[in-house]
Amino acid sequence: MGAPNLPRIIPPVAEKLAEVRQRVEELREQIRYHNRKYYVEDAPEISDAEYDALYRELEELEARYPELVTPDSPTQQVGGEPLEEFEEVRHAVPMLSLQNARKIEELREWDARVRRLLGPEEEERLRYVTELKIDGLAVSLRYEGGRFVRGATRGNGFVGEDVTRQLRTIRSIPDRLDDDPPEVLEPRGEVYIKLRDFEEFNRRRQERGERPFANPRNLAAGSVRQLDPKITAQRPLNIYLYGVGEGYENFESHSEALAALKRYGLKVNPYKVHEDIDSVIEECERWAERRETLDFQVDGVVVKVDSRGQQERLGAVQKAPRWAIAYKFEPLAGRTRLKDIVVSVGRTGALTPQAVLEPVSVGGVTISRATLHNEDYIRKKGILIGDTVIVERAGDVIPQVVRPVPEERDGDEREFRMPERCPVCGEKVFRPEGEAITRCVNIRCPAQALEHIIHWASREAMDIEGLGEKLARRLFELGLIKDVADIYELRAEQLVPLEGFGEKSAQNLIRAIERSKQRPFDRVLFGLGIRHVGSATAELIAEHFSGEDLLRGVSVEELTQIEGVGEVVARAVVEYFSLEENRKLIRRLMEHGLNFERVRRRPEEGPLSGKRLVITGTLSRPRSEIANLIEEAGGTVTSSVSRNTDYLIAGENPGSKLERARELGIPVLDEEGLRRLLAGEESARG
Ligand code: NAD
Repeated sequence: MGAPNLPRIIPPVAEKLAEVRQRVEELREQIRYHNRKYYVEDAPEISDAEYDALYRELEELEARYPELVTPDSPTQQVGGEPLEEFEEVRHAVPMLSLQNARKIEELREWDARVRRLLGPEEEERLRYVTELKIDGLAVSLRYEGGRFVRGATRGNGFVGEDVTRQLRTIRSIPDRLDDDPPEVLEPRGEVYIKLRDFEEFNRRRQERGERPFANPRNLAAGSVRQLDPKITAQRPLNIYLYGVGEGYENFESHSEALAALKRYGLKVNPYKVHEDIDSVIEECERWAERRETLDFQVDGVVVKVDSRGQQERLGAVQKAPRWAIAYKFEPLAGRTRLKDIVVSVGRTGALTPQAVLEPVSVGGVTISRATLHNEDYIRKKGILIGDTVIVERAGDVIPQVVRPVPEERDGDEREFRMPERCPVCGEKVFRPEGEAITRCVNIRCPAQALEHIIHWASREAMDIEGLGEKLARRLFELGLIKDVADIYELRAEQLVPLEGFGEKSAQNLIRAIERSKQRPFDRVLFGLGIRHVGSATAELIAEHFSGEDLLRGVSVEELTQIEGVGEVVARAVVEYFSLEENRKLIRRLMEHGLNFERVRRRPEEGPLSGKRLVITGTLSRPRSEIANLIEEAGGTVTSSVSRNTDYLIAGENPGSKLERARELGIPVLDEEGLRRLLAGEESARG
């Protein structure tokens, strides 16, 4: 079909240009999409290496076809637009991006360009500073007269988001600077999360059935860029400062500014001054090899011209200064065959699919296992058993399979299916609707038993003094306790022969175990470690049902009638009590005399309802009596002072709690003040 030998209407060059234009548009669209996911939503869908490949391709096309460059191209813009929910902050000195060098030669080229631009005279005085490129969220901190007055994100480089209240909760950001800083000073730096904290945080999140964060950067960014500073306060955030925006004119050089920031009491990025580019390159190579010794995520080394005068002479292009460059480490990625997918059971009962790989070396480490997160991840990425896959060591943390290479399929690949029974204990597993994680909820599952024991004995649950994580692990490994009911079968004679135990300490532990039998039913219920049942929920349930009721079978409908108990919680409770193993355990605990009685309801309306109080110092009568009075008036007594505390009751010789309360501006009352509060003579703070 078709008319042969028609004259070509479009000349070949124009045709080529049209093709390129289309590709450029495609790339821009994809990059804009991923920018939004990454900068605005803090939830990227692709790895940085994949993103960088798209970005590079666009950069190269634009370099070859400058006529296609438009001001709205992502290559011409910094970061993402600020979120509307936040107040805007206009940066007096823009917060720019950085040029990148992926190869050592590119560092040399940059050095040559810097020298050329500065000219032979300045070359003499040229010095570089290297510092780590921490992967987190860029923020600026404004201090006026030495006081922290405003914090902002980078946003699009010119306008950022006001996150003052969020940043105030970060301990390493001091409210006041030491040592006579300039009147206006705007240190800039990176808010980040340590790898260990990141892993722990994600573990807990998954335990609650919530989606884990993709990497530490996203967790750090998501923790700052949300409206409730209380949430920020609960996240283990840190900051490293690496520069100064406003107020920089007070310093002769970058290194001088960093030294000053340190004196003012700020945490400064570790840095080093170099006389020439060879020394810079050595430093970059040294870090590339040692990046894994760091306990936070870095993606490269930033090299900066030290002298402020020279920086000013060099100026900036588009979205990055000419006087700085980021040497990016090789993405730690490799390609190998996915031999199988096995399922492991974590301490919390979460079933995690794990990739069994043909061993492959990634960044000098041989990898034969990698995580596949969960069932949906495998499905979404279209990964089949038998595929050739790309493996990345994401943020140098846990290796993960990022995608399959479908072109390499030969037809023998097969789909993965989540097992219906726990591979460790054989009990049925559950995947609650709307959750990504499949779990084993059998409390006696050996994969989870130890974790349950530790939780049971913890302060918030049964509070068994002396039975901490270490001892629990030891007794578990020795086979002396296999589940929480076994704790009540321990005898002093079994403990005495153990190292570190004597007659007396063994007796003490047994006594502490005995005492735990007096804890009210809500603590017992919480101690059972039922998913979604935190201490407050346990209290609600325990006020409505006894242990016997729950064993007899309480329905989801009955449970959701309790105000504050939703579907998810109710289903978790019903599931828990439906498993025979769990029922057996509860009966054993009942036989040992643990408390399964319904809890007498606290007065809902009292002068202190909804209030949280902390008691400190010596009072005229035992603390427990005072705590009772508060609870009878509807209040809650907690052990440590936080922003959520409403009052501190202080007696003689109060300790650090008093200081903390003053710091946070929490009202402090003496016994007389408390008496008036209880009598309703003083209205409780709203
Ligand atoms: P950049 O990586 O080009 O560098 C600039 C930033 O580096 C600064 O804003 C600052 O926050 C940070 N930085 C850390 N240490 C520093 C130091 N010592 N001195 C100065 N700055 C320091 O940042 P960019 O322009 O925000 O983003 C590009 C990067 O983000 C790319 O590497 C890309 O992989 C990633 N990204 C990924 C996705 C995705 O979907 N996965 C999307 C967008 C961007």
